[in-house]
Amino acid sequence: MAEAVRYEGRGEVGVILIDRPPVNAIDVAVRRGIQTALDQALADPAVKVVLLACEGRTFLSGADLNELGGAIEAPGYYETFDALEASTKPVVAVLHGTALGGGLECALACHYRAAVADARMGMPEITLGIVPGAGGTQRLPRLIGARPALEMMIAGAPVDAAKAKAMGLIDEIVEGAPLQGGLDYARRLAAQGAPVRRTGERTVDAAGFSEAEVADYLKSQARALKGRTTQEKTIAAIRAAIELPLADGLKREDELSQASLKDRESEALRHVFFAEREVGKIPGLPAMEPAPIRKAAVVGAGTMGGGIAMALANAGVPTALIEVSQEALDRGLKQVRENYEVTVSRGRMTPQELEQRMGLIRGATSQDAAADADVVIEAVFEDMDLKKKVLAGIDAVAPPHAILGSNTSTLSITELAKATRRPEQVVGLHFFSPAHVMRLLEIVRGEQTSSQTLVTSLEVARKLKKTGVVSGDAFGFIGNKMMQDGYFREAEQLLLEGASPEQIDAVMERFGFAMGPNKVNDMAGIDVGTKVREELYKRESRPDPYFVVSDALTAQGKLGQKTGEGVYLYKAGDRTAYPNPATTALIRELAQARQIPQRTIDDAEIEERCILPLINVGAQLLDDGIAYRAKDIDVVWTSGYGFPRHLGGPMFYADTLGLKHVLERVAHYHETLGHYWTPAPLLVRLAGEGGTFTQFDQHRG
Ligand code: NAD
Repeated sequence: MAEAVRYEGRGEVGVILIDRPPVNAIDVAVRRGIQTALDQALADPAVKVVLLACEGRTFLSGADLNELGGAIEAPGYYETFDALEASTKPVVAVLHGTALGGGLECALACHYRAAVADARMGMPEITLGIVPGAGGTQRLPRLIGARPALEMMIAGAPVDAAKAKAMGLIDEIVEGAPLQGGLDYARRLAAQGAPVRRTGERTVDAAGFSEAEVADYLKSQARALKGRTTQEKTIAAIRAAIELPLADGLKREDELSQASLKDRESEALRHVFFAEREVGKIPGLPAMEPAPIRKAAVVGAGTMGGGIAMALANAGVPTALIEVSQEALDRGLKQVRENYEVTVSRGRMTPQELEQRMGLIRGATSQDAAADADVVIEAVFEDMDLKKKVLAGIDAVAPPHAILGSNTSTLSITELAKATRRPEQVVGLHFFSPAHVMRLLEIVRGEQTSSQTLVTSLEVARKLKKTGVVSGDAFGFIGNKMMQDGYFREAEQLLLEGASPEQIDAVMERFGFAMGPNKVNDMAGIDVGTKVREELYKRESRPDPYFVVSDALTAQGKLGQKTGEGVYLYKAGDRTAYPNPATTALIRELAQARQIPQRTIDDAEIEERCILPLINVGAQLLDDGIAYRAKDIDVVWTSGYGFPRHLGGPMFYADTLGLKHVLERVAHYHETLGHYWTPAPLLVRLAGEGGTFTQFDQHRG
């Protein structure tokens, strides 16, 4: 393997050139190499200025994540960055690509910083529940002030070069290739006789960092920080930067950073982070190349079809959007344009980009438009006969190699595939609303879906920058099955037993969901759930006595936000949920008719009864082979259903509760509430063995 770091003497500039593909993560070879190259530069009498630059697509992108939480091989981060800062010759870093976390911390320890215009830099550690642990909390406040440093570390969003320059984070924006731009800048500094300028010797500008001001800032970030604690440790570290000399501040930072790594919050966030990267590796799937996705077609330009076409266009894939009539097509295309206009109005897209994306979406009213597509996705109404008809029609015109995806929320992929002559190329591609925004894509494997089709479907997810999770072909797949048979069903029972919608929603929002189940029901449309359950009864021929409140509201035409009344009341143009006395009366009536006594229910019981069924149904899905691994479930629920990331997803959360405890509580509700709480055999087995879902995953591969 090529050396991770090279030293090149270029006249007055000694270059430390890092080349550690793919993203120049700061592993031990890089740290060792930086120290050796720095020694060479310092020993080279011709050298006046040292330049630290990276080959490849980015500057040091961050810490080596494989070392997170484990032992760090020497030299460590502190040692390496301290050596750069202590250099007796000025050290300049030139940034390109993304300098995040450890990458930026390295640049902070240099004496001068330049960046190319499209470089981005940030401190995203908080997204993994970690306090920066390589000098960032001490040097960043010294460079840009305590308050801006706080904002960079709490919001976790990267800044571009122009903003970085305005903040004093970098000194210069350079033109052209990073190495050349860096060399030019370093030569200018050499010509000026620029002195060493150690960040650690500066004092911190503490403006805007009084306790009250920090508290106000945290309030403004309350949504993102709900249930989180990392920010408290980050703030303590910044206070140390204000109050202590660098060496002592670094010690304090190290303690806080190490402590943050041991927090359950960080363990959970890292679990989700790694799970998102691992779900695409399917146990037992042979290694094969995905088919290229050059062109696509989407059938149905409604809510989902339009969003899916946007996701494809955003990935640069020319897409035919097919509707039944010109009128429906015009409506669909208009909606797509309006969605893009919102993005433009928020400054996240230029009008030219809008036109370019619209140019990639070609409207059509004939299925012939799918004749050159590599992937066709149907998103017509949720109706088995209609979907079969559409798929049969597409099968007749699409190229033989094309895969046919269905966006069905509940219908059997195996059954839908029967309508075509290529059942092995039919797959569920279950997007979430809004499809151009939500990152989750459930990939549903029908009985005949081939490995090649799965591999290509995972490529669709990758190309669209989505997280693809493979699910078996059971009713509701992973996400909707757990929602219907777990979470929502119990929320509905609690209503009948006397908890108010407001109380249930407040408890689940405190738990960490952005919206409680009743508000979600109103937002999605209560009739949607009712229709889903009708399909379920057909498919599993079981009666379902559990959704009486929702089904009664659907029967009354109170469908949620879209009709101005559902579980809650809504005012025109206002999505705030107001209490609805009619719902209270309806629930009371329904409870009486079923002889369910209403009582006061405490918050703890509500939380437990809403969360435990998710775990129990999840365990059942693992047992049935519908989900491969517990982490697949965790990714589905954190990226598609709003389960709080800092709790790691329902299965990771179960591990933190302890499976023995989970089983005891599920068994308790089984006794008191009935058969639908029957503990899943896998839960019983793991609890009996003292095992965890994390261990279960390790066996699954
Ligand atoms: P929608 O009613 O908004 O859109 C369906 C569109 O399909 C309509 O525009 C209709 O004109 C069109 N259509 C009907 N028959 C057609 C045909 N033969 N050829 C071409 N177009 C035809 O519905 P939606 O909410 O977009 O849902 C579509 C599918 O996505 C359903 O299967 C649904 O279960 C699923 N889904 C919906 C959501 C959601 O949140 N809305 C989420 C995930 C999956």
